[in-house]
Amino acid sequence: MNLDLTKNDLSHVVEADKAHVWHHLVQHKQFETVDPKIIVEGKGLRVWDAAGREYIDAVSGAVWTVNVGYGRARIADAVRDQILRMNFFAGAMGTVPGALFAERLLEKMPGMSRVYYSNSGSEANEKAFKMVRQISARHYGGKKQKILYRDRDYHGTTIACLAGGGQDERNAQYGPFPEGFVRVPHCLEYRKQWDDVSGAAYGRRAADAIEEVILREGPDTVGALCLEPVTAGGGVIVPPEGYWPRVQEICRKYDILLHIDEVVCGLGRTGTWFGYQNWGVEPDFVTMAKGVASGYAAISCTVTTEKVFEMFKDDAEDPMSYFRDISTFGGCTAGPAAALENMAIIEEEGLLDNCLAMGERLMGNLAALKEKHAVVGDVRGKGLFCGAELVADRETKEPVAEADAKAVVAECMARGVIIGVTNRSLPGMNTTLCLSPALIATPQDIDAITAAIDGALTKVFG
Ligand code: PLP
Repeated sequence: MNLDLTKNDLSHVVEADKAHVWHHLVQHKQFETVDPKIIVEGKGLRVWDAAGREYIDAVSGAVWTVNVGYGRARIADAVRDQILRMNFFAGAMGTVPGALFAERLLEKMPGMSRVYYSNSGSEANEKAFKMVRQISARHYGGKKQKILYRDRDYHGTTIACLAGGGQDERNAQYGPFPEGFVRVPHCLEYRKQWDDVSGAAYGRRAADAIEEVILREGPDTVGALCLEPVTAGGGVIVPPEGYWPRVQEICRKYDILLHIDEVVCGLGRTGTWFGYQNWGVEPDFVTMAKGVASGYAAISCTVTTEKVFEMFKDDAEDPMSYFRDISTFGGCTAGPAAALENMAIIEEEGLLDNCLAMGERLMGNLAALKEKHAVVGDVRGKGLFCGAELVADRETKEPVAEADAKAVVAECMARGVIIGVTNRSLPGMNTTLCLSPALIATPQDIDAITAAIDGALTKVFG
């Protein structure tokens, strides 16, 4: 790739960034000794930094987002055309790409019926939480207000999403939180909570634990259960077989709405359009964001069944019956215009199939790393959504030191591969290397990613 890095004064950009930008998820003290890395350009699976160094991006823009890869001219063209024609209109009126993307999206989601637009995963989840609360107020006389969430799941960064989030590190110091969010146990079999069972029986047991919480709280107080199909930032946790069918059964038994947070898995990450479709789950709410437009524009969706939708229009005489909510930038047309092209690319290039094939290769390579390096305690994954949990001791499963986990990420970077790591500073929780390359990855890309990890593990742990 011919990069003309001289056309911008990139050393000035680095200085401006250092002086003025407050970066996400970072202790800024570190930038007193190291410059922030500025990513300048991307093509396919590769990105280039301000120094002209090339990297394979094994995490799709750091946070599982750029599913179709960088530099897609057809998305840029569609967005440009659309915003020149009509860039924005919000509120009660509609837009052309908003209508057409909703139609295309629902074709991929049998059983689902309505799409509510906003512009981040957190916001999409907040919308669903508000819908649950309003259903409680209007249809259950204020009962069924509580929303269950799972240990180690993450649903976003707002105060309500944190209240419904299972990663304590993210919540500390941000309270007080709104009431009515109740935690259920995680389902990570590698860190067993029920010793007498394994495999599908373990999955059923972990789901039974949800029922125990419902019975403890009182089924008439619980309105919804919000779960990630595969837990992302909590350590790439793929629920054991047996888990999802039992979860569905429990929700039906107690009349509890099932909200699946597909912010990471949505639009192909696990090799199906949505993560829940791997297990034949029938949700009431599905939220999605990152992969919907692969980061070419901001868009998120809260998708509901017709049954949920109907509960907001059953009494037009009641001035409080409709969903009294708006998202200003839910009226941006760039999002659905980009999302239409993003979906077309996934279909036309067969990226779901590629995701499955490359995911299998990646899991095979990770299994080989587990054979070779004692520090790799467990490998997990679904499609191109994979993780390798690092433990200081295979017997005790004590996580590796945070500094070592960071060193592995830095060593991979030095070898030209960007990877992620989850939960590294949470005592007692898993420390998992996180891999989610774009769905266009080739066998050579996958092998290059795991070769870098192999080298990094040897360098850090011997
Ligand atoms: N849900 C899940 C599963 C996520 O991983 C994230 C972000 O990483 C969110 C929700 C929040 O999305 P956003 O950062 O777009 O608000």
